[in-house]
Amino acid sequence: MEKINFLDNIDDLVIVTDTDGKIIFCNKVTLDRLGYSFSELKNKSIIELYSKKDTSFLIDNIHNKKADADSLYSLLILDKEGNFFELATSILYGIWNNSETIVFIAKNLQKQRAFENFKKLFNNKIIMMMIIDYSNLNILDVNDAFLSKLELNKKDILNKKLTDLNIFNNSPDRDKMVNSLQQIPEISDVKIEITTNSGNTLYLIASGDLIDDKDKNLLLVVMIDISEQVILNKKLDAQRKQLINIIEGTELGTWEWDLVTNKTIFNEHWASMLGYTLEELEPTTIKTWESLIHPEDKEDAENILYKHFEKKLSYYEAEFRMKHKKGHWVWISAKGKVIEWSKDNKPLRMFGTHINVTQKKKFEAIIKENSMRDPLTNIYNRRYLDEQLKNLILENKRENNVFSIAILDIDFFKKINDHYGHLAGDFILQEFTKLVKSHIRPYDIFGRYGGEEFILILLNVDSDKMYEILDRILHSILEKEFIYNNETIKISFSAGIADINEFLSPTINEIYDCIDKKLYTAKNNGRSLILK
Ligand code: GH3
Ligand code: MG
Ligand code: MG
Repeated sequence: MEKINFLDNIDDLVIVTDTDGKIIFCNKVTLDRLGYSFSELKNKSIIELYSKKDTSFLIDNIHNKKADADSLYSLLILDKEGNFFELATSILYGIWNNSETIVFIAKNLQKQRAFENFKKLFNNKIIMMMIIDYSNLNILDVNDAFLSKLELNKKDILNKKLTDLNIFNNSPDRDKMVNSLQQIPEISDVKIEITTNSGNTLYLIASGDLIDDKDKNLLLVVMIDISEQVILNKKLDAQRKQLINIIEGTELGTWEWDLVTNKTIFNEHWASMLGYTLEELEPTTIKTWESLIHPEDKEDAENILYKHFEKKLSYYEAEFRMKHKKGHWVWISAKGKVIEWSKDNKPLRMFGTHINVTQKKKFEAIIKENSMRDPLTNIYNRRYLDEQLKNLILENKRENNVFSIAILDIDFFKKINDHYGHLAGDFILQEFTKLVKSHIRPYDIFGRYGGEEFILILLNVDSDKMYEILDRILHSILEKEFIYNNETIKISFSAGIADINEFLSPTINEIYDCIDKKLYTAKNNGRSLILK
C-alpha cells in the first residue's frame, strides 16, 4: 500500500500489467489524466490504451521483453474520450507483489512543455510578472521585465510581502489590490500607479490568478505598463479641456455632421446663438440647419459645400443668415472641413464652427453705406456713381438695357458762396438735393459728382424723357425761394443729357465727356438750360 501511495504522488503516469499486458494497477495521475476509473481499466489490455501505430511495438515488448530500461519511447496514449497524448514512456520488467509484471512509466510531457512555455513567458522582456505565495503574500519570484521597469534588484524583492513593497503611489491602489487578493486568489485588470526607484511614475494594469502547483498556492501576477497610453490620454484630456475653454471663450458654435446618417451634433452655444437650448432642437440632423437657414442664402452655402466635397476647395467657408427663435435673422459665419473620407473620396464626417457675425455685418453695411455716400447731401458719391455706371454699361452690352444720364451744375454757385457765405452754399447744396430727389423714383441713381455738380441716371428712360423730367425740376428750382438766415436765395442749374444708345461702344469716360460738353455748351448759351 505504501508503494501505491508513493506512486499516487508522483507526476508520471504509472501503469502495471501482468506478463500478458493485462492492467493490474494504475496510479491516480493515470486515472485523472485518462479519465477512467480503475475498475474500467482493470484487466484490460494495455495495448488498447495506446494508438494503433504503437500496437506492434507494444506486443513485441510485452512478449519479448525487449525494452531497454534506460530508454524513453515516444508513444501515443488514448484517453477515455479518444484524445491522443504523446508521452515519453519507459518500460520496466520486474517483480511486484511476488508476480512478474511489466511497468509502464509515462512522463507527462505536456506538463513539462507547459513549464518550459511558462519559463519562456516568464522571461518576457515586456510583460512584468511576479509569483506570489498566496498563503502569506510573499513574493517568490519576479521576472526581468519587472525588475527593469521598476528599477529594482531581485534581492530587494524576494521574500518580501507584497504589502511591504514600497512602490505603490497611493495607498488606495495598494489596498484595492491587496484587499481583492485577500478575498479571492484572483485579480483582474486592476489599474495601479507606482513610483520607480528613480522616481518615475508608471501606470500599470495588473491581473493575477493561481497557477497550478501542488504544495503552495502560487499566484502569478502579470502587469502591463500602460504609462504611455495614460500620459497620452491625460495630454489629450488637457488639450480637449483647453479647446473647450477656448470654444466657450470665443462663443463659437460647433457642429459635427455624420454624412452617412445625416445626424449632427451641435454644442450648446450653437443653439443659443439662435435663441434655442440644445434640448429644444434635439434630435438634431442636417435638416435642423436646413430648416433655419435663410432660403436666399441656402443655395450659395450649399454650392460652396459641394465644392469642398469635390475637393475643389480645401475647406468650407460661408456666410448666411439663420432664423432666430424670436423671428429675426442672425448672420452666421461658417467654417468647416471634412475630417473623414471614404475610400472612394466621399465625405463621411465633417466638423466645423459657426460664429454670430450679425454685429460685424451691421458695421460692414454702415461702412459700405458711408463709402458710397456724400456726407453733406447724403446722396451717392462719385465712387458709387462710377461703379454703377460701369455696371450699367456692362448690363447694356449684355441685355441692351436702356438708361439715360445727365450732369446737373448749379449756375453761378461761386457767387452764392461769395455773397451769402460758404454755409449758405452748403445749405443750397442740401436743399437742391432734396428738391431733385422729390422728382425722381427711389431706384433712380442720383449722386454728387463733386462741388456743385450732380449726376442723375434714370433706368429705362431715354434722353427725351430725361429732358422732360429735368425740365420739370428746373422749373420748380426756378420757382423755389431758398431761405437761409432770413435771406432769400434763388438758383438755377444747367444740364447735359446723354442716352446710352448714342454710343457705339460706351465707356465711362466717353459718357462723362459727352455730357460735360453739352453742359459746357449750355453754360455758354446763357445757363439755366438743359441740352440733350
Ligand atoms: P458756373 O455757372 O460756370 O458753373 O459757375 P460756378 O460759380 O457755379 O462754377 P465754379 O466752378 O466757378 O465754382 C464752383 C464753386 O463751388 C467753387 C467752390 O468753392 C464751390 N463749392 C464746391 N464744393 C462746395 C461745397 O461743398 N460747399 C460750398 N459751399 N461750396 C462749394
Ligand atoms: Mg461746376
Ligand atoms: Mg456751377
